[in-house]
Amino acid sequence: ASPASPVAYQSDPVQTIKTNVVGSVNLLGLAKRLDIPILQASTSEVYGDPKVSPQIESYWGNVNPIGIRSCYDEGKRAAETLFFDYKRQHGTKIGVARIFNTYGPYMSVGDGRVVSNFIVQALSGDPLTIYGDGSQTRSFCYVDDTVDGLFQLWKKQGSFSGPVNIGNPQEITILELAETIGKLTGVKVKLEHKELPENDPTKRKPDISLAERELEWQPRIALEEGL
Ligand code: UDP
Repeated sequence: ASPASPVAYQSDPVQTIKTNVVGSVNLLGLAKRLDIPILQASTSEVYGDPKVSPQIESYWGNVNPIGIRSCYDEGKRAAETLFFDYKRQHGTKIGVARIFNTYGPYMSVGDGRVVSNFIVQALSGDPLTIYGDGSQTRSFCYVDDTVDGLFQLWKKQGSFSGPVNIGNPQEITILELAETIGKLTGVKVKLEHKELPENDPTKRKPDISLAERELEWQPRIALEEGL
C-alpha cells in the first residue's frame, strides 16, 4: 500500500508554531540561566519560495505569512529572531543552522517526504506520486553530512552564531529524483501526478560558502551514493 503522506507542515499548525516559539523562549531562558550554549535547528523554509538562488544566508526570504506551511516557516523565523535577541540582550551563546532537505536510513515508511515516499512506492510496485509537474527542485543532504555540519557548528560554542546553511548544493528536479530512484531500485516506475501543495517552493539550493569558510564543512556523500 502507498504510505500516507503526513508532512511536517500538515501536522497541527498551532502545535508547530508553539513548539518553535514558546519552546525556544523556554530553552533560551534555561541556556541563559545556566550559561550554556544553545543551537537552533532552523530550516531552509525560512527562505520560503525564494527569488534568489542559490539561497545565501543574507537573503531575507519570500514567505507567505498566512499559507498552509506558514506555521512552520514563520515559527522557525520567529525562533531565529528570539535566538538573536537573546544573543544581543544577554550574550547567550547561540548557533543557528538552516537545515536543507535531509534523508537517510531509518526514515519512517509513512514519513511523507519525497525520498521515503518514492523509495517505498518503487519497492511496493506503486506509482511514484509527483506533486505538480515535478519541475520544482530540491537539494538533498545525506543525514551523516547534516549531523557532521551541526556538530561543527556546536563545537563553535557561540563564537560563531550563523545563521549558516547546512545542506548539499547538488540540486535536482523532483522528476529527476523519481528517475534516479527508478534506476537504483531497478523498478520500471510509473508516475502519478497529484496536485502541488500550496506555496510549495519552486526551487531550493543552498549556498554553502559560509559553512565551508567558518566551519570547514562540506557534504561528502553524493545523492546516488546516499540513496
Ligand atoms: N513531493 C512529491 N511527491 C511526494 C512527496 C513530495 O512530488 O510524494 C514533492 C513536494 O511537493 C516538494 C518536494 O517533493 O516539491 C519535496 O517535498 P518534501 O515534503 O520531501 O520536502 P519539502 O517540501 O519540505 O522540501
